[in-house]
Amino acid sequence: MPSPSLPSADGPTVREYYADLHVHVGRTEKGQPVKVAAAAGLTVRAVVAECLERKGIDLVGLVDCASPGVLEDLEDLVREGRAAPLPGGGLRVEGRLTILPAVELELACPAGGVAHFVGYLPTLEAARHISAFLSPRLTNVQLSSQRARLTLPEWLDAVEAEGGVVLPAHAFTPYRSVYGSCTRRLGELLSEGPARFGGLELGLSADTELADRLAELAELTFLSNSDAHSPARIAREYNLLALAEPSFAEVVLALRRQGGRRVAANYGLDPRLGKYYRTFCPRCGSLALLGRLKPVPFAAGRIVRGCWTG
Ligand SMILES: [Zn+2]
Ligand SMILES: [Zn+2]
Repeated sequence: MPSPSLPSADGPTVREYYADLHVHVGRTEKGQPVKVAAAAGLTVRAVVAECLERKGIDLVGLVDCASPGVLEDLEDLVREGRAAPLPGGGLRVEGRLTILPAVELELACPAGGVAHFVGYLPTLEAARHISAFLSPRLTNVQLSSQRARLTLPEWLDAVEAEGGVVLPAHAFTPYRSVYGSCTRRLGELLSEGPARFGGLELGLSADTELADRLAELAELTFLSNSDAHSPARIAREYNLLALAEPSFAEVVLALRRQGGRRVAANYGLDPRLGKYYRTFCPRCGSLALLGRLKPVPFAAGRIVRGCWTG
C-alpha cells in the first residue's frame, strides 16, 4: 500500500510505492505455454492475485507482453471492467495495482555472447505494435524471452518509437547478461553510451554497492526485480519508488531522477547468498569449488566476465 504522502522540495507531492518490474507469465488463461520453464499456475490473473492479496505490490512489470496470448488476457481484464489504462501509461487493476506492459528479449552482442534486455511500454497498444514488429524476428512470438534476430540499437529504436524505455536485465548474472556474457563495458554496446538505457536491473549477482564501483553506471538508476517464474517468487526482490502516481510516466521520471521522483530503495537478495557470487567459473562453465574461489568480481574499476576472476 502507498505510504502517507512525503514532502517534496522540487515537485508535486510524491508517495512511496512498492514495485517488482520483472515478472514472467507461465501460461495464458487458456493454458497456452508462454514461459515454458515457469510455473503453469503463473497466469496473468495469478500474478494480479499474488500482488494484490499476498505481496502488497503496487506496480508490477509483466515482461512477456509480446505474446499475443498474454495481451489477450490483459485485454480481457479491461473488457471485464477490472482494469483500465492510466493517462500516464500502465494498466490500473481494481484501482490498486498497476501493470506495466514489458517485453524481455535475448539479443546477440557484437563481440559475441547474448544478453537479455527488457523494454517497458506505456500501453497495451504499444505492446501490440512491438509484438507485430517482433513476430517475423522471433521463432515463436507466443513464447517468452526468445532470441530475436535484431540488434540492440534496433531494439532500442523500436521501443523508443512506442514511447518506451529499455533496461539491461539481470546485468551481472553469468549467463545471458551484458556484463556476464557480452562486454566488460556497457558503453561499448551503444555509440551513445549507457545513458540511452532507461536504467539497469541488478540481478542476483550484484547489489548497489558492487554496481556503484563501475564509473560508467553512475548515471543509471538501478532496479532490483524478482524475475519471478512462480507466484511465490513475486517480490522476492523489489523496489521502493517515490512517485506522484503509480503510472508508467512516473516510473520513467523516477529512473531519470526527475521532479522529486526516484528509486528510494532497492530490496535485493544479498549477492553473497546467491548462487552466482564468486562461484561460477567462466572457463569451464561449472560452479567453482569452495576452496578454489578467488574474490571480487570487480578489479581496477572494470568488471571481469562472469563472477570469478579465474
Ligand atoms: Zn532474462
Ligand atoms: Zn526474465
